[in-house]
Formats: sequence, C-alpha cells, structure tokens
Amino acid sequence: MRRLLPAVAVLCLLTFSAKADAAQSSAAPIVLNVDASEAPQKIYHAHLVIPVEPGPVVLYYPKWIPGTHGPTGPIADLAGLRMHAGDKQIPWRRDDVDMYAFHCTVPDGAQKLDVALDMLAAGGGGFGDQTENICVIRWNQFLVYPKGKPIDSIPFQASIKIPSGWKMSTSLPIESQEGESAKFGVVSLDTLVDSPVLAGIHHREIRLGTGEPAHYLDLVADSAAALEITPKQRALYEKLVAEAGVLFGSRHYKSYRFLVTLSDKMGYHGLEHHECSDDGMPEHSMADDEAAKAIAYLLPHEYVHSWNGKYRRPGGLVTPTYQEANNTRLLWVYEGLTEYLGTVLTARSGLWTLDEARDYLAMTAQQLDNTKGRAWRPLEDTTLVAPMRAYDARGGWTSWRRSVDYYDEGTLIWLEVDTKIRELTKGQRCLDDFCRRFHGGAGGHAELKPYDLDEIVADLNAVAPYDWKTLLTNRVTQTADHAPLGGFRQGGWRVILTDKPTAFEKAVQGLRKRFDQSSSIGLTLGPDGEIGDVVLGTPAYKAGVGPGMKLIAVNTRRYSPKVLDEALAASKKPGHSITLLIEDGDFYRTYKLDYQGGPRHAHLERLKGQPDLLSKILSPLTGSVEKKAAKLHKGTDG
Ligand SMILES: [Zn+2]
Repeated sequence: MRRLLPAVAVLCLLTFSAKADAAQSSAAPIVLNVDASEAPQKIYHAHLVIPVEPGPVVLYYPKWIPGTHGPTGPIADLAGLRMHAGDKQIPWRRDDVDMYAFHCTVPDGAQKLDVALDMLAAGGGGFGDQTENICVIRWNQFLVYPKGKPIDSIPFQASIKIPSGWKMSTSLPIESQEGESAKFGVVSLDTLVDSPVLAGIHHREIRLGTGEPAHYLDLVADSAAALEITPKQRALYEKLVAEAGVLFGSRHYKSYRFLVTLSDKMGYHGLEHHECSDDGMPEHSMADDEAAKAIAYLLPHEYVHSWNGKYRRPGGLVTPTYQEANNTRLLWVYEGLTEYLGTVLTARSGLWTLDEARDYLAMTAQQLDNTKGRAWRPLEDTTLVAPMRAYDARGGWTSWRRSVDYYDEGTLIWLEVDTKIRELTKGQRCLDDFCRRFHGGAGGHAELKPYDLDEIVADLNAVAPYDWKTLLTNRVTQTADHAPLGGFRQGGWRVILTDKPTAFEKAVQGLRKRFDQSSSIGLTLGPDGEIGDVVLGTPAYKAGVGPGMKLIAVNTRRYSPKVLDEALAASKKPGHSITLLIEDGDFYRTYKLDYQGGPRHAHLERLKGQPDLLSKILSPLTGSVEKKAAKLHKGTDG
C-alpha cells in the first residue's frame, strides 16, 4: 500500500504447496457472481453458492485485508444479507463479539447454501470508491467464506457483470466472456482477493514492451483524453519493467498488470498484489508529462511489492484466514524497503530525473527531520499502530504524533544500508546484491516465502559482513532528536536549507496544493490556507497557532502561497515581522510571529572529497531511457 501523499499477532506459516492445489482440488468451488452493472449508482449485488454439510456453519466476511495493514474490510457497507437452502430461507445471526462472523444452521439434506448480499458504495472516500465511469472490484468486499479452512485451500469460481458498454481488465484467468459478462477460472480464495477487476467506460490496455513475461498498463479514466498516454510516459514505464527485472534478477509472476484508474474524483491510492497492482492516479497523469511528476513514484512502489510484500512477506503478515490479527512490526521492511526501492526505480526508469530524485529525497529528509515525535516514539512503534487506521489519521499535530513514518524513514534507513554496503565493499557490492539474493529465485509464478528479521540480517551479512542487527535495531527501536541522515553522508551528500525551493518542490507543491513551511515558521498549509500541522517549538507554535485553524491574511494582505513567501523573504530585513490573521471557527485573531529566518527549503549539497554513491544508486542499470525505449520497441526486451 502507498499512503495517499507525502505531506497505508498470529504468526502462522502455512504450507503454501497447498495453494497451487486449491485450483485443481476435487472439492467443488464456491461459486460467486458479482453484478456490478449498477456501479454508477453505487450499489453492487453478489450471489454465492457455497458447498456445505448440514449443521451449524460460520461464515466470515473478510476483515484483515492484505496490503491495508488493518481490519479494513468494509463490514458497515454490507447489506441485503440473505441465506437460502433450496427454497427455504435460513435465518442468520451475527456473532456476539466478532461483527465479521455470521452463524446459521444448514438443514438436513441440504448440500449447498445460497447467499445473497449487497455492497453499498455510497460511503465516499478511501478505497472502494468509483465514479460514473470507473469501478474497481476488490473481491473481498463481495463475499463470505466458511470457517474452518485456510484461504489458500478454498476454491472459488467467480463471474462478473459490468455496466453496459464498459470494458474490464484483470490478472484472473478468463474462462469465457460475452459482452459485459465474464466467467473466470477456478482459483483459491487468496488468489481471488489478490486479483481485482478494473472496469470502466474509457478503457485502454497497453502492452509494455514485447518481452516475456508480458506486462500491461491497463487504464480506465473519467475521460477518453486521459487515456492518451504520451510516448515518453509509455517508454518510461517500459523502462521501469526492465530496471526491476535487473534489480531483482527474477520475476515471481506469469504476467503483470498495472491496473490504473485516472480520476480526480477517486482517492489517489495504491494497493499491491502479486500479479497486478490497484493504482489510483490523477486524471491526466499519463497524458501530461509535467502532471506525471507529482505521482511518478506510485507505480514503482506498488510494483516493487510484487517482490517485497507478496513474494517475500514478514511472517507476522501471513495468517491462515482474513480474520486473524496481523503482526505489523516489520512494516519498516515491508513498506520501508519498498519505498526506498520504489524511489530508486523511479529514478532509474527516468520517471524522475536524477535532480528530481535528489530533490525529492531532500524534501523527504527535511520533512522527517521536522517530525519531532521521534523524540518520544521510536519508528517501530509507528508500525505497531498501523492497524489503528493510522493511514486515515489526519488530525493535527502529525509531527508530534508521528504518522506512517515507516515509509519515508524506511527510505532513509535503507539508503544508509545501501551506502554502507558500498562503503564496506569498496563499491563491489550494494543493496541490489541483497535484493537478488533475498527476492530472487526461480520465479515464473506467484509464490510466498515468509521471512523474519534474522533472515534479513543473515542475507545482508552474506553480501557484506557487518553488525547489521545492531544498526537496524538501533534505527527502529531508539528515540532520537533527528532523522537518520547517515545515508546521505555516506552517499556523498548532505541536506542543507536555502531560501529558494528546488524546481521539483515548487512543481510538486503547486500540483498538490499543499505548502510545507515547517522548516521556517513551523506549519503546513492546504490550498486555501487550512493549517494542517504545527511543529512543536517553532515560531508558529510559540505564537499560539494550532492545527485546524485557517490562515486568512499575512501582514494585513489576503493569504496566498506567494504572499506568505514574500513575507518570509522580507522577515530577514530589519524592522520586518510576520503577523498572521487566523480564523478559528467563528473567531478571528492575529498572531505575531517572532521569526527573522527567511524562507527555508531543503536541498542536497555535494560533500567535497566524498565519492558520489547516491547518484550511482539512482542511475539506470540498463542504459539510457532513449536507447532502452528504442530497443523495447524493436522487440529486444529481455
Ligand atoms: Zn506499499
């Protein structure tokens, strides 16, 4: 999962050889039909036929949804639940303490249970949204399954009907298709849930390169124009596929699909799967090279998860069914390493230039350094509250509360590991070697290999002997006043503050309409002056400003980002000050800030005499973008 924007314990290892058997199992599959033909109306109907034995049965609605790191199954949106055995309606009763469990009794002689349910999609916000033109079928929302068997051994045969005139994409095997209806091959429940269907009226499937295994960019959009991907974007995503292949050394899928919604109305999101990813981007992200920059990291991040998260997964995130709680302690590997490798691949593929990737890292590092909550709360503690809707925790004081920092701080930790390996081995080895060892293997099909921290440490030691356990444990379990910036120093750079934003920061803040002044006066602002966060100890904090207020005027002039920038610049001149007029509910008040520091924006600066390892890390392994794109189009992709 990827959280929306930078400013998403039972340890039971299953025998996964059973997984491949589920599809071929002689047991009759559960038949599931989802009628999504009323998707624009925001209601879906599902019907299941579940083979059963007479007697008491417990049916589960999936609760802990893979990749969301929490009990996020949308149980409140489940409606219309009815059960029948033949013509006889069967009463059901919800469990007293587990709201995701339903009890019923199958009468003598009955061998199957018919279950009808509706999914109400009118809640708005978050995953599960659709527009008049787009929907994403995430199967876990439309089914129940019987208690008693692991999810990799319950066979399902699903079919779907989408609205008239729409088209669909999925990595599920298609058994038959007629118009807007499709029937899929039998797969295990975990594979079904891992294989969403993307559908929309404006639909386009693009094959990326010509090599095997096949890769596709499947787009559905709120407009036909948004499907007009620029030749540059297409070449860059082809390069992403090639670069990932070299980084990991093998691919654990038969084919891979980027299932992308292009809409300004749906939430921007990413949810990883083994053979596809469920990606939500702004409407013109593919058709406008400049707009693409702001969210260029999304597809690389979700794609990396096919290796780091799906193929290799912390044991605590592997449970027999969707009902057991996850142990999220190793999310700094699951998400943090993914975030680092995703950033590296965004640069290596050319989706960001070297300068843009460095500017992004500078912004990230500075934002983390302004996260004062590290003083009371170690990074690992943020992983453990991930299930508590940490992804949605908007409220203010984020820098003191801490957020899902295991993404960005993970980037810094893994940069430190990468540069340390390069330093220890005098440039002979690097984190890529670890990835080929840890994420490599035969490949060719979806497979799951759980891991623990000891295996990570052992594989790092095999690449470059060092006390990795102490380094990693210190980084994730110790409190600190500053972000872990050692990776920059080892990589030949340091973070500095100047009064001018980088071109990248300017472009990204403009596109996202979010303005970070944490390093100067100590607050962040939304598009209309909404104060999102205030950093403890900064001039804004000391003056009495709090989150949830709204900035109306700066030095008597109506607020705009430019007006504030000019006031910050003037603050350095003698006799100038900054006075904010702020609205808080029905009240207005002025706040005088004691600040003379001018604007402050993060940059990376080269450390003289140190080798530039960072640029080496961010540089492509497969030749230049242009050369690679030309090769790909001639069909010579490896
Ligand atoms: Zn993720």
